Amino acid sequence: MSTEAVRGRFAPTPSGRMHLGNVLAALLAWLDIRSADGTLILRMEDLDPDRCREEYAAQILRDLEWLGLDWDEGYGAGGPNGPYRQSRRKDLYMDYLRRLESLGLLYPCWCTRSQRLAACAPHKGDISSDGACPCRSFSQDQRRKKMADQGRPPAWRVAVPAETISFTDGVQWPYSQQLEKDCGDFIVRRSDGVIAYQLAVTVDDGMMGISHVVRGRDLLSSTPRQLWLSGTLGFSPASFWHTPMLLAPDGRRLSKRDLDMDMEYLRRLFTPEDLLGRLSFLLGLRPDASPVSPQELVASFSWDKIQKNDIVLRDPFPV
Ligand code: GLU
Repeated sequence: MSTEAVRGRFAPTPSGRMHLGNVLAALLAWLDIRSADGTLILRMEDLDPDRCREEYAAQILRDLEWLGLDWDEGYGAGGPNGPYRQSRRKDLYMDYLRRLESLGLLYPCWCTRSQRLAACAPHKGDISSDGACPCRSFSQDQRRKKMADQGRPPAWRVAVPAETISFTDGVQWPYSQQLEKDCGDFIVRRSDGVIAYQLAVTVDDGMMGISHVVRGRDLLSSTPRQLWLSGTLGFSPASFWHTPMLLAPDGRRLSKRDLDMDMEYLRRLFTPEDLLGRLSFLLGLRPDASPVSPQELVASFSWDKIQKNDIVLRDPFPV
């Protein structure tokens, strides 16, 4: 696949109905690719069997269609880089896990969740510099003994170097992290066998030739990890745009759990053009909130217009 091609993706987790924040991310991923004549992929990030359901994935597809945001390849459309559901890609992830192992970067970790949290730098990564995982320094013999004694499978971590990873985000200024200090060795496979988001998304973006990643700012701190992992696994780095978050009138982040502004509510209140008009006004793409179709937004789309700061919604949404 040509490394020159502009390829983006929308990668929702089908753990509930889309909310307005997901619509914002989908709209910007769509505009970014459509204004660059690129290819847009829809990928379902349904790694977690406890949270994800097929019916939510099907509903996301219908909600995107209702919004008029189409895609060229992926879930519901097929294409040469499938499967486009992470739950069907486990063998591919296992290949890359083995590659990390052959590089000597993978180690088993038996810490319990509470031990891990106690050693965790808040909101940054899995372990802080002063709480490095004790499992990292076990000898092969100690590991074998643990495997035999513990009676429960370990999680698997990747050992990060003391390297600083920097990149310039298309919305959020330059950003860097010293991996060992700011993030620490992170889990790539959970003890229940589920592949962790960081590995899956890096492998998928790499294998699908993604050059443009557009997603919410809540994932900004994951990006240095993914850039490092991507280089380590031999993929070309993507460019990143982390979009402002939408906050409820009381300052909370919108969430699926709280059913904040979900598509059921939004579709009852608005037409697609009404909703997109209001959203594009909030983002700074248009001077007023009058109805607009996605196609009408393409010609004048520019990342320079998008504001960096989180957006607090008024009650009732949005103006
Ligand atoms: N699946 C993630 C979500 O729904 C997005 C991951 C990504 O864009 O890298 O929040």
